[in-house]
Amino acid sequence: MHHVTSLQHIVVVGASLAGVRACETLRQEGFEGEITLIGAEREVPYDRPPLSKKLLAGDWEPDRIRLRRDEEFESLRLTLLLGVRATALDTATRTVTLDDGSAVTYDGLIIATGASPRRLPDQPSLHGVVVLRTMSDALELRALTADGTARVTVIGAGFIGLEVAATVRARGCSVTVLEGAPSPLIRGLGVEMGAAVASVHARNGVELRCGVQVAGIEGSDGRVTGVRLGDGSLVASDVVLVGVGVAPNTDWLADSGLTIRDGIVCDAHLCVGVPGVYAAGDCARWPNGVFAGFDDEEMRVEHWTNAAEQGAAAATNLLAAAGHAELAVAPFVSVPFFWSDQFDSRIQFIGRAHGDDEVHVFAGSVDGAFAALYGHQGRLRGVLGVSKPKMVMPFRALLAAGASWDEALAKAQALTAN
Ligand code: FAD
Repeated sequence: MHHVTSLQHIVVVGASLAGVRACETLRQEGFEGEITLIGAEREVPYDRPPLSKKLLAGDWEPDRIRLRRDEEFESLRLTLLLGVRATALDTATRTVTLDDGSAVTYDGLIIATGASPRRLPDQPSLHGVVVLRTMSDALELRALTADGTARVTVIGAGFIGLEVAATVRARGCSVTVLEGAPSPLIRGLGVEMGAAVASVHARNGVELRCGVQVAGIEGSDGRVTGVRLGDGSLVASDVVLVGVGVAPNTDWLADSGLTIRDGIVCDAHLCVGVPGVYAAGDCARWPNGVFAGFDDEEMRVEHWTNAAEQGAAAATNLLAAAGHAELAVAPFVSVPFFWSDQFDSRIQFIGRAHGDDEVHVFAGSVDGAFAALYGHQGRLRGVLGVSKPKMVMPFRALLAAGASWDEALAKAQALTAN
């Protein structure tokens, strides 16, 4: 066990969901020392899921998605440094260097720097070409699509791309989604269920084209004109959203000596291998004991619930390892969960999906509301629900307990019998 003798100053880098939850947990657990929260964005910390949903739709304004109210932040007694980016970490001197030329030293550190959108190779910088991760990205895309006349092309049929497609289609825009893989949502849901879930797009007039190669984005006079495909054709576009996944924000740690492998490599306690330093959220990779001996244990999860839970767990373990208030260090073991809203479909997924899973639809039908089990080697691995909320959460305990496929089928039968 790592021991940090005395904690007086804890620094949290990354002022979003995982970072804010870490700060809250430190106070809830009775830490009375100084906490400095450092965030590269200027905005007061806000919630990202609405950026592609209610905020993009124009139904909600930025104030509505703040993570906490002013009074709540005040009660945490933080030294809040917003609009300031960490540029380097020295674990020997326990120093974080900032881009305003200053540096802060810490006794304990939580890294929660999240992830940023990947870009296409040679992606041009043109008016109308956007990514979506931040409030300013969302407001830009909202302005570009506000009057409902834009021809919008989405590159990448992942969750962000399809949520944007649904939201701007509902505002009246004509929407084309381009995907290189043979089916949408493959990475999250596999081929068959990805196609089933995305069928809501065709029903709502989104043109979804899979198996197409994007050769490049074109423009004239600084504005985008379209997306050139591998076959030479042009998809004429006023707005292009590049939604091809995210990469963890770890560049600033390049010289830190921490192990970086598509994320900051942590142990089961979310410790990065240096006493007193922890990571949480989209930037963290850790062995998730819930899949021990069955699936790849080591994972990085890019979902809201995970970021919130890991922020809290990293804070608790940091305090516990320092001998604070008789807290116990505990491994972070969690069944991954996410949701997505597309048109009137509420998609929920718990557990994990792989391309080779056996899939069994146990409720509803795949052209509307339905629920399905994912299994592997005689074990339950995941559960998908489309507008079937009551059919998903009951499996959480089964997944946590490593339930067999037969137990899962029995549970599914019991749920649908009522
Ligand atoms: P982030 O939210 O990425 O925050 C990291 C913060 O650290 C950022 O503010 C960043 O500016 C800052 N930072 C980065 N580098 C530095 C540095 N060097 N110094 C200082 N600060 C730095 N998940 C779901 O489960 N369901 C959904 O429906 C859903 N919808 C989403 C919709 C959108 C449009 C997006 C973008 C995400 C969505 N997510 C959803 C994912 C969810 O929002 C993320 O998993 C979550 O935000 C991760 O939180 P985080 O705190 O780990 O990282």
